[in-house]
Amino acid sequence: MPEGDTVYRAARLLDRSLTGRELVATDFRVPQHATVDLSGGTVLGTVSRGKHLLTRVDRGQEAWTLHTHLKMEGAWRVLRPDQRWPRPAHQARVVLTTPDQVAVGFSLGIVELLDRAEEASAVGHLGPDLLGPDWDADEAVRRLMTEPGRPLREALIDQRNLAGIGNMYAAELCFVAGLHPETPVREVAGLRRLVQRAHQMLDLNKERAFQSTTGNLRERERLWVYRRDRSPCRRCGTPVVVEMHGPEGQERASYWCPSCQPATS
Ligand SMILES: [Zn+2]
Repeated sequence: MPEGDTVYRAARLLDRSLTGRELVATDFRVPQHATVDLSGGTVLGTVSRGKHLLTRVDRGQEAWTLHTHLKMEGAWRVLRPDQRWPRPAHQARVVLTTPDQVAVGFSLGIVELLDRAEEASAVGHLGPDLLGPDWDADEAVRRLMTEPGRPLREALIDQRNLAGIGNMYAAELCFVAGLHPETPVREVAGLRRLVQRAHQMLDLNKERAFQSTTGNLRERERLWVYRRDRSPCRRCGTPVVVEMHGPEGQERASYWCPSCQPATS
């Protein structure tokens, strides 16, 4: 699942390519919006809010917001009209055409057209956005502490606490903090420092083509523990372990070094 910085880059791409442009054709390939046509509209811009994308389009007196989410496999691509699509056409969920470019949203998890005034219904539940202009570490800590018994990794990926962390950054953050992923939030001594670290991690990576938490950009050396099960820990050599954690039905793979991140109890 894409992390917040990946979504941020997608927003930047759409913003650079579409802002100020007129839409000459639109195609919403989802049942609820199949008949909608925003051609003639002008794109005002695209922003990310956590892992959500908001593309604002004005058309006459109408003010629309296209809300999309990449979920597991989604991606936005911007192409020239004559360019071959990088994915099969049946995966396209949205096609926005300007006079010289085509933006295609493939395999999007959410495609929703909202009245601009209703944007909050899509993103109002989110905690402080790690890459937003209004990032607020204190508020993120406050929200995390509302469920003090919750395992840290699970609390970090809950977008209502802070928005932008996925399973990869959650695993990496637990490692750099030396904390077992199942540590209850209340037992995390430097919670504010951890939250700041999360902000730094995403901020450092938001313009990079490849995400790195180790600072090393070489392939296979970019991450501490995520998807490195059975490989030696970069600090102590102990094999990294993986286990499924999380509430029933929402289990996710959790990676950690048993030596650097011992269980608390
Ligand atoms: Zn280790």
